[in-house]
Amino acid sequence: MNKKQSILITGGAGFIGSNFIDFFLGKYKKTKIVNLDKLTYAGELSNLKEIENNKNYQFVKGDICDTSLVQSLFKTHNFSGVIHFAAESHVDNSIKNPDAFINTNVYGTFNLLNIAKAYWMEAPYIAKEGFEYNRFLHISTDEVYGTLEETGLFTENTPYAPNSPYSASKASSDFIVRSYYHTYGMNVVTTNCSNNYGPKQHDEKLIPTIIRKAIKGQDIPIYGDGKNIRDWLYVKDHCEGIDLAFQKGKAGETYNIGGKNERNNLYIAEQICEILDKIRPQTTQYSEQIKFVKDRPGHDFRYAIDASKIENELGWKAKESFETGILKTVEWYLNKYEEK
Ligand code: NAD
Repeated sequence: MNKKQSILITGGAGFIGSNFIDFFLGKYKKTKIVNLDKLTYAGELSNLKEIENNKNYQFVKGDICDTSLVQSLFKTHNFSGVIHFAAESHVDNSIKNPDAFINTNVYGTFNLLNIAKAYWMEAPYIAKEGFEYNRFLHISTDEVYGTLEETGLFTENTPYAPNSPYSASKASSDFIVRSYYHTYGMNVVTTNCSNNYGPKQHDEKLIPTIIRKAIKGQDIPIYGDGKNIRDWLYVKDHCEGIDLAFQKGKAGETYNIGGKNERNNLYIAEQICEILDKIRPQTTQYSEQIKFVKDRPGHDFRYAIDASKIENELGWKAKESFETGILKTVEWYLNKYEEK
């Protein structure tokens, strides 16, 4: 990426988007980023305080479903790329209120793609002059593949079988992105990543909840028997994968991103409690606060990613193991929660 260009990032006030913007502005000094975010309950401008005065950064409060706003941003900034994070992302919320998931994740993705197509493409398979390399990167999840038993891994060829309104809305958006490649020849790439953790994640998610409840002396709630397995990836490793897919991925391809760090929820809670026992000792062990609660309906048992495609084709590799990443993560949340 040599010449000055502008990129639209959606949902950059959320967990992964804000980590990504920080990473990207640090790496590419000649690229301008416009961050379009609705600032739902999940968006937090303080996630961006380190870069809010960066001359290559601009924040726009708005909805990806707002056609005239997105069109006017394309006209003003002449974007050469879109990196699309914006989504409703919490499975529990999708069970109670799926509407917003369909609007943002499905319609919003369509709206962005359709405007990018109108702005970049002359006709199907013919890009406008100077727009040939413009790319739309869609960030998605491994949850689109459904659930695994004790063995097996999700590859890019695993059939989609989403089980929650969240994963169904993400699967739908992936299909729309795919169709814009096959029908219009648009330069799209999709990444499907496993569970992320690290700084700036919303308080509602598992790891921040465990840390917060632990240090407040409250019960640490764990769904069911705590045996559900996720493949945990430190958010900075995900950011590097997204960057590689954006810069070097092949148009029309999807890339699974995951760190080969399968851990069950009980292990995660116990690991965090052990770290806290060492760095914030109290009279009792933190693990005594772990309480099993009624399971989430339709709770997928296991997700695990085969990331060999992005590793072999793009040279990506996770740098953090769960045990190194979780230590940094606990320290970050202690700073956050103890400041309050
Ligand atoms: P998040 O919930 O922390 O952030 C989402 C951001 O999108 C928020 O800032 C919110 O204000 C914004 N947003 C929501 N609706 C919007 C709309 N209509 N218009 C504009 N902005 C809107 O989510 P996250 O965890 O950072 O996830 C980012 C992306 O990565 C999502 O697409 C998610 O599906 C995907 N993903 C997340 C994980 C994970 O573990 N967190 C794993 C794999 C994939």
